Amino acid sequence: MTTYKVEIERKKCTSCGNCVDECPEFFKLDENGISHLKESERTGDNDKLEMADSGCCLDAALGCPVMCIHVYEDGEEIS
Ligand code: SF4
Repeated sequence: MTTYKVEIERKKCTSCGNCVDECPEFFKLDENGISHLKESERTGDNDKLEMADSGCCLDAALGCPVMCIHVYEDGEEIS
């Protein structure tokens, strides 16, 4: 079964909100206005979440102006 992982490099986030507009199911801005992956694990400055279907996360990644959202399919980066 294919597995997906999504990661946000929160240090690079400019708080534009595009990811929340594209994919509110998974993304929100935290109290400091930085993008946060709902129910994710935080490692250092990055949020990581594994999922069975990347859903709208790919749209969020493509819409990020600083390309700080990464989507992996079976360990390989697809965005
Ligand atoms: S689209 Fe990128 S820069 Fe904009 S809020 Fe989301 S993670 Fe941050």
